[in-house]
Amino acid sequence: MTNNSRRRFINRIVGGSLGMSAFPSLAFAGRKDRSYAVQLKNLPVIDEVDICVLGGSCTGVFAAIRASRLRAKVAIIEKQNAFGGVATHALVNIWHSIYDAEFKQQIIAGLTTETMERLARRNAVVKTSNNHSKAFTFNSQELKIELDEMVLESNIHPYLHTLFSEPFFDEDKRLTGIIVDNKSGRGIIKAKYFIDATGDGDLCQRLGLDTYAHDLIQPPTTCAHFEGLNIEKVNNLLKEHREEFNIPDGFLWGSDLPGTNTFMMAGTRVYGVNCSVADDLTRAEMEGRRQIRAIMDMVRKYAPQEQPGLVALPSSIGIRETRHVRCRYQVTDHDALDGKRFEDAIANGSYRLDIHHQDKPGLTFMYLDGTQVYSRPGYPNVTSRWREDAGENTGFYQVPLRSLIPPKYNNLMIAGRMLDAQMIAFSGIRVMVNMNQLGEAAGVTSSLALHKNKAIHEVDSKDVRNELKKGGSIIV
Ligand SMILES: Cc1cc2nc3c(=O)[nH]c(=O)nc-3n(C[C@H](O)[C@H](O)[C@H](O)COP(=O)(O)OP(=O)(O)OC[C@H]3O[C@@H](n4cnc5c(N)ncnc54)[C@H](O)[C@@H]3O)c2cc1C
Repeated sequence: MTNNSRRRFINRIVGGSLGMSAFPSLAFAGRKDRSYAVQLKNLPVIDEVDICVLGGSCTGVFAAIRASRLRAKVAIIEKQNAFGGVATHALVNIWHSIYDAEFKQQIIAGLTTETMERLARRNAVVKTSNNHSKAFTFNSQELKIELDEMVLESNIHPYLHTLFSEPFFDEDKRLTGIIVDNKSGRGIIKAKYFIDATGDGDLCQRLGLDTYAHDLIQPPTTCAHFEGLNIEKVNNLLKEHREEFNIPDGFLWGSDLPGTNTFMMAGTRVYGVNCSVADDLTRAEMEGRRQIRAIMDMVRKYAPQEQPGLVALPSSIGIRETRHVRCRYQVTDHDALDGKRFEDAIANGSYRLDIHHQDKPGLTFMYLDGTQVYSRPGYPNVTSRWREDAGENTGFYQVPLRSLIPPKYNNLMIAGRMLDAQMIAFSGIRVMVNMNQLGEAAGVTSSLALHKNKAIHEVDSKDVRNELKKGGSIIV
């Protein structure tokens, strides 16, 4: 093989446009490259589908279900042992309001309400009305089983314990497959369209697409299930003793797990990490667990009458934010704050903009009516305004379809927290009732592209909105 033909061959496998930094091992010509490329060429094709969804949180699952309901043959891959993402692996069991910010008009439905109705039939969800902090408190473990059923009912091919590792290209450098690793080994799943729902935008990053991180990435949190934990007591103890136990100043909250005596505590914070970096992720996991133990040690020392029992740790630290993918439109902070309406809107959201600070304790909530609240458990809230009271409230913000479509690769979309959004806009859009809608939109758009044999960006957003509406979503 000549040097040129070898380069062409490698380009075919990893894509000619990739920067070498994405695959440092391929930066060196020689025997190592050749054997690696030959290895890839000889990988078995384990599946061929219309649409492959990477990442199986509710975002990914809802993308897959919507696509399948529009007659696409779909596979979904998930590296963990169950679907649900942060809602299950990281134990975060709260979904927010499906009404506008004043609780007058319902703005969200679709698979979000369908899933909550299914959980309600299992007594696995508690509903709360007119509350900015929570609307549905569910049992994360029951959600895992429910999502299994929903995936199977939709005839989606599920791949659990399956990690996406690299893209696969045909001879014309088109993205035609993904390389996955699981218990059976390495293999290629071929597809016509791809939805990157990995949270971190792993496929986009491996494709060398333009990604970015905000200056202050929201910190990750290790949640935990406890019995006998008094959260008020913990917050009070933290005020006096956090330094002794090296527990960072943060924001400790939690919720009951419906149908059990268990309490989900979300109180740790690992600052200064980017969980899309392997070393940072490892450090964050271990530091999060250390903080859980430190909280228990503090309670045992200073409130020995309390007997908190650790019931379960998450199978993954809760990751709020890593990289974002540059798309055809970036949602600006003011798009969200001012509740801008978009012609190609595919999601509505009213969750307040909620900034988990990297550089100080507590949260800042920015409401669409112009109110701003700095909240730090154990201290009084500090209320101010981020804009003058104009006597009006747009009630909700929207996410345009373009913020899910990267400019390169005609058969690729993203869905999830890697969306293209400025920092404050992202801080509200990131919650699950919003992410769910992004997933549904990605599934519908990819199916329409498939049936019309079009590039993703050529699909008419009016058609997407119509299909979303027909499938039960509220499209305003
Ligand atoms: C501690 C914490 C508390 C929060 N509180 C709330 C709350 O109360 N309510 C709320 O609505 N939102 C909350 N959020 C925000 C919300 O949970 C996230 O923004 C949302 O879950 C992001 O969804 P996602 O689908 O983009 O990503 P994720 O939920 O992270 O899902 C990504 C999925 O892709 C899989 N994956 C990743 N890489 C690969 C790969 N290479 N191969 C295969 N699979 C892969 C992951 O295992 C995961 O299942 C919280 C977040 C955190 C961390």
